[in-house]
This record gives sequence, structure tokens and C-alpha cells, in this order.
Amino acid sequence: MSQERDSGKPASGDASDGILSWTAVQLRDRLRSGQTGAEEVCEAYLEQIRRHNQDLGCFLTVDEEGAREQARQAAKRLSRDPHEAGALAGVPVAVKDNIVTKGLRTTAASKILDNFIPPYDASVVTRLRRAGAVILGKTNLDEFAMGSSTENSAYFPTRNPHDRERVPGGSSGGSAAAVAARLAPAALGSDTGGSIRQPAAFCGVSGLKPTYGRVSRYGLIAFGSSLDQIGPITRDVRDAALLMDVLAGHDPQDATSSRRPAPDFSGLLERDRKPLRIGVPRQWMGDGLQGGPDPEVKRAVQQALEHLESQGCRIEDVSLPHSEYAIAAYYIVAPAEASSNLMRYDGVRYGLRADNPRDLQDMYRRTRTQGFGDEVKRRIMLGTFVLSAGYIEAFYSKAARTRRVLLEDYRKAFAQVDLIAGPVAPTPAFKLGEKTADPWQMYLSDIYTVTANLTGIPALSVPLPPGPSGLPLALQLQAPHFQEPLLLQSARLLG
Ligand code: GLN
Repeated sequence: MSQERDSGKPASGDASDGILSWTAVQLRDRLRSGQTGAEEVCEAYLEQIRRHNQDLGCFLTVDEEGAREQARQAAKRLSRDPHEAGALAGVPVAVKDNIVTKGLRTTAASKILDNFIPPYDASVVTRLRRAGAVILGKTNLDEFAMGSSTENSAYFPTRNPHDRERVPGGSSGGSAAAVAARLAPAALGSDTGGSIRQPAAFCGVSGLKPTYGRVSRYGLIAFGSSLDQIGPITRDVRDAALLMDVLAGHDPQDATSSRRPAPDFSGLLERDRKPLRIGVPRQWMGDGLQGGPDPEVKRAVQQALEHLESQGCRIEDVSLPHSEYAIAAYYIVAPAEASSNLMRYDGVRYGLRADNPRDLQDMYRRTRTQGFGDEVKRRIMLGTFVLSAGYIEAFYSKAARTRRVLLEDYRKAFAQVDLIAGPVAPTPAFKLGEKTADPWQMYLSDIYTVTANLTGIPALSVPLPPGPSGLPLALQLQAPHFQEPLLLQSARLLG
């Protein structure tokens, strides 16, 4: 039972086998001690991407030249003073393609941004660069992060490295599959309703959605602004802590960014490992929510809970009585915010513009008709509807009230326990094409993840050993606002 099962594998065969087997923390240590060079690491990953990206579809854009240049710079910094070179000096990172990168094409996997070269870096990208990270390229996603399978990408779907007939989850499927297939040691994802945690679960890697406001959203292409949060997808939780050390902190460019000082995530991880009280929402493990989780998922979660108990944790039954309304509330709030956020794609300032428009209306209509895919159009229509006069009270305002009630559910639960545990998704990775014809089935994949976004709390997906199907399985842990260190510490009890 180890989220660190890949770490410390002996370097077998040629040097690049060794490089690819190291976690981000191990890479950082080896780069600092001079055992490995930043350029060598960069080349090993570029080679791995050349070999496997065609088949897996993880990256939309690979920045070979840019990565080489960043690796050269990192090597210089490391040779000058390894401990001043930055927390990620020479460590390659993949970035989800809804996070803007200066001078590097950023599409959000949409045709409407097919030709978009951002004039600035997202704050998280600035932070990565400052820490000396090497940005390998931009990873595939569901268009505008709307989806749970990466099949809504306007370019190509990503395949699950554990079974290529299956989806990697979504919307950060490219990032999760890249980390799982060792096309990058670590990646950034974004999570509006589960998009970091569910693909991490489907691909057998770790995924953390931080507290709303913990990581800056400046430069994240907005989907549901009150729900969106950027976070790390990594091989293990130690790497998640390392990335959080770089990503977290106040940003004056994001009005919702928290002023709370960021903790030393990696330091805290090494220190406390006190046994905790862990609550399991009875609505999640029973059959109340859409029949409950699939038996394989349920069994894996139960085994993980037993393991935590054997480590001294107390497992308790808790109630989140309004979780049955979470999916409905989410699929009102998220599309409502999306319909407003996506108004900016009008063909005027940037992105696609339809040819030879007759007039302004015609340009808007044809640009958006050609530029957006079906799921994005569905969300815009849903969102416009729930915000329209006469319906806003019946839908949007009710959904907003549901968020407050859910927050109250969590407040009560967290008065009783330190953490909440349960499944990430109802099933393991499903087959490509299995749910594309039925959006409602696709939406139900988010049943256990959306509550963290609706309430703003942090949540982590931790890999568990595979079950009878051989597919990756995972445990979700949720904590009160700003308690990410507790999530990471308790995840280590599983390792
Ligand atoms: N699957 C959810 C949706 O389609 C969540 C997406 C996300 O977190 N970006 O909206």
C-alpha cells in the first residue's frame, strides 16, 4: 500500500532509465549534489515524450527549444550555488494547457484559441520559472476543462497509460497520464469539480486540489471562477509538498488569493504524523448516492481505512446530509460562471475569427459556432438559461444556497473529525467512448469531488494498490480550509 511505490527504484539499464524512475524530490537532490545534470534530465524526458506522446496524447505542445534553454540556465545556477538555485532547479514540469505561458501556445484544448500565444505568464508559471523548473510543454485537457475524460479535447483524446482503451480521467488527463507514463516527473492541473483528483485516481498518481485562494488563479483560463484552483499532480505526496512550496502564497494579481502565509509543506511532511480522527460520510460509502461506489472501489477504500486504523487513526461515521444535492448545484454554478467567463471569446481581440463576416453579429455567431465544441456549447446554454430572468431564482440562487448548506455540513463534520475520507470517483477508469453519448453519466463521475470545490476545502487523491481489474484505485482525503499539510501527512500513513 504505497503511493511511493515507484520511488527509489534502482537505476537499471541506461542512464535515462534511472532519471525517469526518480521522483521530483529525488531528482532535485541528485541535481543539487551534481550526480545528474539538468540538461541530461531534460533530454531524457524529451526523448521519452518523443517515444510515447504520439500514442498517449499527453501533450498538445512540446517546447523542446524552450525546455533546453531553461535546462541550460538551471545547470548554470546549480553549478554556481546548488542551494540558491531554486527549489526545482532543473526539475522538468508539464503544465496543463489552460494555464497561460508567455510566448508558448496555450489553447485550453479549444479551436477558438488554436492560434493563441499568450503575452504573459500565469503566476504559477512565474513561480515555477523562478524556482528553476524546466517547462516541458502543455498538456491535453477537456476543452476549457469541461469534462471528466479528456475526450472533449478539440485535438485528440489522451489515453490511460495503464490501459490504452481507457480514459485517463479529466479534465487534467494529459497531466495525469504524463506523470503516470513518466513523460514528466510532475505536472500542474486545475480542479473546478474534480479535474486534478479524478485523473490522478484513474492514472495511479497523486493529485492535490488546494484550498480555494491558496494558489493564485492569475493566468488560469477561467472556467468557474469561484470553484477553479490550480494544484500539483505528482508521483507521490512528498513531490506534491515540494510543488506546493513553490506554488502557494499570496498574489496581488488574484483578488481571491489568500493573504495567509504559506506553510513549509515539505518540512511539515517530515515532522508530524500524529494519528488522526477520520470521518467517512455515510452517504458516500452506502448506496444512497446513485447506487454508491462500484464494489472494487468500495473495497479498496475500506482496505485503506483499515490500514489507517492499524496506524492508530480513528475511523468514524459522519454525515454530509446535503451531498445528494452537490452534483445538481455544481452543474448549475459551474455552467453559470462558464457562460459569463466564455463571453470574452468573441473573435475581436484574440483567438479564432470567422472569415469574411457580413457584420458584427455574424462574426460573433460564426466564430463561436466554429470555435467551441459541443460540451462547451452545452455548458454555455445551460449557464445562460440558469442565469436568465425568471429562472435565476429557481436555479442559480438555489444552487448558491446549497453551497452554504454544504459548508455547514462540513463545519459540523469537522467539529467531530480531522479529515474526511472516501472514494474519488464511483468507478475505476472507464473505456474511451463509454460515456460520451450521455453527458449525465459523465457528470456523475464527479459525485464525490464537487463538494470540495463548492465549499473551497482542500482535497487529495492518493493512489492505492490496484484491485482485481488491475486498474489504478484511489482514496480521497478532504480537510478543513488551509489544512493541506494534514492531508499530505495522513497520506504518508498509507505509504
Ligand atoms: N468534470 C467536471 C466538469 O466537467 C469537473 C471539471 C473540472 O474540474 N475542471 O465540469
